[in-house]
Amino acid sequence: MFLKRIELQGFKSFADKTVIQFDHDITGIVGPNGCGKSNINDAIRWVLGEQSIKSLRSGSSMSDIIFSGSEYRKPVNLAKVSLVFDNTQHIFDSNFEEIEITRQLERANNEASYFINKAPCRLKDINDLVMDTGLGRDSLSIITQGNISAFADAKPEERRSLFEEAAGVAKYKKRKQVSLRKLEKTKDNLDRVQDIMDEIE
Ligand code: ATP
Repeated sequence: MFLKRIELQGFKSFADKTVIQFDHDITGIVGPNGCGKSNINDAIRWVLGEQSIKSLRSGSSMSDIIFSGSEYRKPVNLAKVSLVFDNTQHIFDSNFEEIEITRQLERANNEASYFINKAPCRLKDINDLVMDTGLGRDSLSIITQGNISAFADAKPEERRSLFEEAAGVAKYKKRKQVSLRKLEKTKDNLDRVQDIMDEIE
């Protein structure tokens, strides 16, 4: 599995549709300070479900990631980013040989929409798809400035979660948590029913 292409439109400094093709093993992106190199990194994390505006280095609302205009350009009203992955090795649990994950956001409603291979989906579907592929939002496949020192300073349990993601057990831990929450809720409901029955008797 590898990232073949990123398509950005209206995301941060990318006002126009921009396609970045990754044809080689290593691709370097160079440019002067402030030209938008790190915005590409932010775009990848945004598509993979990043919800923290602070880690996206943006303003106070998610709509601040939409191109806000420049000296020569008016602001735009939609940000859309797609990541296109080669899946010929079926690392993603899907029969498709190419997986396109898209997130878009309209300024008018500040609501995100997600798509897998152009079909609308939930963020959860994207999380499930990428979990344990090494691409999870908190995985080490994207190392931003400051990540290395944060890893070195992390508490043992925080470091453990990165190893769990890499080892492929994160998915099962997450499912266990969801099931435990459902069990807890069911127990509460049963207690409530019991209370009502006690009152009636
Ligand atoms: P450096 O080399 O200094 O780290 P960089 O190339 O990584 O810089 P970025 O941080 O990716 O640069 O991009 C910063 C630029 O993106 C700034 O010029 C900023 O004005 C622009 N930018 C960020 N958000 C928006 C937005 N919503 N609309 C328009 N431009 C934006």
